[in-house]
Amino acid sequence: MSWKENKALGGVLAIVALAAIGLLVWQMMPAEQANMITLQCTKCNATQQVAAVGGMEFPAKCPKCNEVAVYPTLKLHCPKCNKDFNIVDAGDGQVSKAVCPECKTPLQQPGAEEENKPE
Ligand SMILES: [Zn+2]
Ligand SMILES: [Zn+2]
Repeated sequence: MSWKENKALGGVLAIVALAAIGLLVWQMMPAEQANMITLQCTKCNATQQVAAVGGMEFPAKCPKCNEVAVYPTLKLHCPKCNKDFNIVDAGDGQVSKAVCPECKTPLQQPGAEEENKPE
């Protein structure tokens, strides 16, 4: 069996598995967009809602400006002013420095690790 066949078979199995998992999750979830994630382009700031699936790679290509600069966003909630907002998780450590766009309160990311990379 060639690697191409393996890959094709693997792809089909992955899709079937994802569909099964997705269906399972979807049935367990209340009717809300629990499996949708927001992606944002860091070049043109265009956002798009996509279904969260495994195997997504970032940065992805932006459908608007064609730049490969699309990253997932994280949903954040400001405990001070109760604002919900998204920030782009570009994997550059900016997420851990997120501040509320309303009241500028620095927001601690649960699970976010402070990385002090040398510039
Ligand atoms: Zn763009
Ligand atoms: Zn706030």
